[in-house]
Amino acid sequence: MTRFLPRPELLDSPRHRDWPAVPGPEPSVPPPLPATADVVVVGAGPAGLAVAAALWHVGVHDVVIIDRDGRPAGRFLDRIDRIGQRVLRSPYEHHPGVEGYRDCELRDFARMHWALLTAVERREVRMSQAGHRSVVPVDVFEAYCRHTAAIHGVPARLWPGEVRVLEPGPERVTVQGTGFTVDARYVVLCQGEERRAAPAGWWSGARPAAVGYWDEPPPARAGHEVVVGAGLTSAHLIHNALERGARVSWVLREESERYQCSDVNASFFRAEGRARFDNVPWADRMALMRRERRASVMFEFRPELRAAEADGRLTVRRGGEIAAVGDGEVLLADGRRVAGDHVWLALGTVPSIGAGLLPDDLVAARDGWPDLDERTLAFRAAPRVFAAGAAACMVLGPAGRNIDGHRVATARIATSVAAGLRDQAVARV
Ligand SMILES: Cc1cc2nc3c(=O)[nH]c(=O)nc-3n(C[C@H](O)[C@H](O)[C@H](O)COP(=O)(O)OP(=O)(O)OC[C@H]3O[C@@H](n4cnc5c(N)ncnc54)[C@H](O)[C@@H]3O)c2cc1C
Repeated sequence: MTRFLPRPELLDSPRHRDWPAVPGPEPSVPPPLPATADVVVVGAGPAGLAVAAALWHVGVHDVVIIDRDGRPAGRFLDRIDRIGQRVLRSPYEHHPGVEGYRDCELRDFARMHWALLTAVERREVRMSQAGHRSVVPVDVFEAYCRHTAAIHGVPARLWPGEVRVLEPGPERVTVQGTGFTVDARYVVLCQGEERRAAPAGWWSGARPAAVGYWDEPPPARAGHEVVVGAGLTSAHLIHNALERGARVSWVLREESERYQCSDVNASFFRAEGRARFDNVPWADRMALMRRERRASVMFEFRPELRAAEADGRLTVRRGGEIAAVGDGEVLLADGRRVAGDHVWLALGTVPSIGAGLLPDDLVAARDGWPDLDERTLAFRAAPRVFAAGAAACMVLGPAGRNIDGHRVATARIATSVAAGLRDQAVARV
């Protein structure tokens, strides 16, 4: 039997290398946002990028992409950099792109830039070629996103802005945002996820001063940091605090930490895993989601975290249900108190499901998930509006929130949109 050995050096890819610019027209001052479009895509993260590429492949070119940051995959990369993550958790096979079209894929792209890769990174490319699990540098992923955006004409169709309201009608959807209105035939929501806030009751009034979320800047100086959360983000926060020379307390609700390569079971990235969600009763899907969407840490962190615990730099408070959070301290339900100089909250993320943009009766949320047509990923009560990314998890399974799941979602959405536009064109003749 082969034993899996965690290799911490895989986590250490260099960041912000000088990657060759993608050939193409120089960026110019963008024209004003058009008043009409066949499709408006809300969000230019990995999911929005995949949707834009898919639409390009099926011949839908009158597309407007609106994103708060106005940069392809901008928020994703900002979050990654904020916690100092250097490699993706997903392997080379999980490239942002389109299911069914053989574009230059993430691994091909890495091979084309072999000279820029370190020896460790090259070995990971070979691992992927041999069909093994592989680790992708964030640098490679960022450059690949730029490449994907450029070859599918995304920069010329991407505008910064925030979409505030969608008004679906029988023939069109009105998209209203910060100082603009676009009249679209179809809208695809690719909003991603927002950070999960602390439950009401952990503190009263304003958030205590020495308490911060994972996506906020680190404290100016803290000798003892308390990290709450069980996922990969927590592992990065612990690593960063140890690097700063701080002592760390790690508060885990579970009885033990979980180490896994991927954040969901690998079967959910394949058709047989997705089939476990197809036409299955809602309660069974909810049970699967509860079981499968649980926080875990990449194996490669295990040696560092175990060593820090053994030599006392890290104290792990396992089985700690939190009762309250105060200034730099956490009170556990069993009466234990974990005190430090700063508390980090890394409680995961919550899918954005169109609530706030669409009226509630059109989102028709159940247990926090929107009511989507399983075949097309359109909102059942607003068939001109589609959802990709985490919002599609109750159709595609837990991998719907991952880069690989976006590909599956985009294939369904692009096919439906192209067919709808064709039917309308025929009806007009
Ligand atoms: C730290 C971290 C590491 C991760 N690592 C991986 C990984 O290795 N592999 C993997 O598969 N997944 C990973 N994930 C999950 C990851 O979030 C998704 O795979 C990916 O970012 C989702 O892409 P997205 O486009 O759905 O969302 P996002 O990347 O969040 O993009 C959504 C975009 O939509 C914009 N937006 C939202 N609402 C509006 C609006 N109303 N108007 C205008 N713009 C709007 C947002 O500002 C954002 O720019 C990670 C997540 C985090 C937080």
